[in-house]
Amino acid sequence: MKRVVIAGGGTAGWLTACGLSRRLGSLLDITLVESDAIGTIGVGEATIPPMRNFHRIMDIDEQAFMRATQATFKLGIVFDNWGEIGDSYIHSFGEIGQRSWMAEFHEFWLEAREQGFGGSLDEYCLELMAAKAGKFAKNVEDTRLNFAFHLDATRYAGFLRQLSETAGVKRVEGKIREVRKHSETGELEALQLESGELIEGDLFIDCTGFRALLIGEALGVGVEDWSHWLASDRAIAVQTEATEPPPPYTRSIAHASGWQWRIPLQTRIGNGFVYSSRFLSDDEAQHTLLNNLTGPTRTEPRLLKFCTGRRLKAWHKNCIALGLSSGFLEPLESTSIHLVMTGIFRLIRLFPFGEDRDSLIHRFNEETRVELESVRDFIVLHYKQTQRTDSDFWNAYRTMDIPDSLAHRIDIFRNNAYVWSDDVTLFRIASWVQVMMGQGINPGAHHNAGRLMPTEALKQSMAEISDSIAKKVRQMPPHQQFIEHYCAAPPES
Ligand SMILES: Cc1cc2nc3c(=O)[nH]c(=O)nc-3n(C[C@H](O)[C@H](O)[C@H](O)COP(=O)(O)OP(=O)(O)OC[C@H]3O[C@@H](n4cnc5c(N)ncnc54)[C@H](O)[C@@H]3O)c2cc1C
Repeated sequence: MKRVVIAGGGTAGWLTACGLSRRLGSLLDITLVESDAIGTIGVGEATIPPMRNFHRIMDIDEQAFMRATQATFKLGIVFDNWGEIGDSYIHSFGEIGQRSWMAEFHEFWLEAREQGFGGSLDEYCLELMAAKAGKFAKNVEDTRLNFAFHLDATRYAGFLRQLSETAGVKRVEGKIREVRKHSETGELEALQLESGELIEGDLFIDCTGFRALLIGEALGVGVEDWSHWLASDRAIAVQTEATEPPPPYTRSIAHASGWQWRIPLQTRIGNGFVYSSRFLSDDEAQHTLLNNLTGPTRTEPRLLKFCTGRRLKAWHKNCIALGLSSGFLEPLESTSIHLVMTGIFRLIRLFPFGEDRDSLIHRFNEETRVELESVRDFIVLHYKQTQRTDSDFWNAYRTMDIPDSLAHRIDIFRNNAYVWSDDVTLFRIASWVQVMMGQGINPGAHHNAGRLMPTEALKQSMAEISDSIAKKVRQMPPHQQFIEHYCAAPPES
């Protein structure tokens, strides 16, 4: 049996413990070390739809998970003030209309708009219209909705811990004092705890968060800094009481020098303000957040410091970094937990059972790099594509140089309305379209497939789609009502 040691018991540590124990359990001897004194980062409460796939593969019961974590459903993110002050658009998890092999639906819609009909593009996306109406159902008629969750991060770690311990993971509480390495090979050998206990292993997973005790401090693997594209390096987080039924979406509100998140759970709201210390002091940031809350606070505001970038090698020697130790983009599109999950899948697929580890390491690091760069581009798009001129913060973002890969995407959309998706791109065509149009890109031209249809036929087929969506939304219950029947959490003790 391989001895796997997981350092850290935040969301990343317990997800890893759960994934490895539930899928490779009988082949491994897994120990997780966490320190109650240090605790976890305590944020990371909005997710994206592929999480459901992770849960399915790990046999995690959705209703039990939702009850245990006070979770609500998420159909997308509402972005306020991002293009210009007063703007609002939704990046939803749904598809838009019906595509043909020749052209995407938004190109037919652009044609319709040019001819003077078609209404708003929003009307062609079920998840978006349901989010706007505050409604939710998992299925309506023959359609399955694409959704994610908002969850309580601390409760989620506790829930995963229970599943992992049941599957045989041994938990050790204690502070890691020293990471022991082999004097010649530099491979990790053991974690020495403050109590003196020694935890030996063959493979070490670094889930120690921003501290990166193993991959960074012990093995000296550096970080590729992306702060020139993603300048935010701080956040203030605070929880408030819920004062109204939870909407089925996250809210992201841009302010003069940062942006605020609002994540609705069943009984409380997770709030935070993300900003760059180059443009705003901590006091000003806290003031902005506290002045823009919707209910009484239930916790003291907490300051979190971070830097954006990627660990140059997520896997080095016998150590693999998952979670914040492997890099961080920023929470704008709720991608971090997802990246932990894809990292776990990757580790399970590439698990080093044989002698030749180097080729597996190379593959793991390459796949991780490509995945992160693609997510990075999508997040940078939100900042770059602003028209705001009201602060140094937005001026710096609006005028910054961006990665070539992103510049190419924006140019081809701006000039031709063309969007594509490939194997490595997490965000689908509909996501790129919603954010690019939501932030004010108005394509100069589009595919003329729509002109191959008589105007009346185009009009009719578009009306059929939007009418069918409107009918489905009418049939759906309010989000709150669906939660009450499906997954209401027990009252808080
Ligand atoms: C402001 C902000 C907002 C975010 N919002 C989202 C979001 O909406 N959606 C999303 O997907 N992600 C979000 N994230 C990211 C998300 O929080 C993390 O990806 C997720 O919580 C995993 O964190 P972690 O487990 O890697 O680290 P942590 O939660 O920090 O856990 C680290 C663990 O290591 C242990 N540890 C550290 N040092 C030692 C030591 N010396 N000895 C023993 N144990 C030790 C700690 O006790 C802890 O158990 C956000 C992050 C930030 C900073």
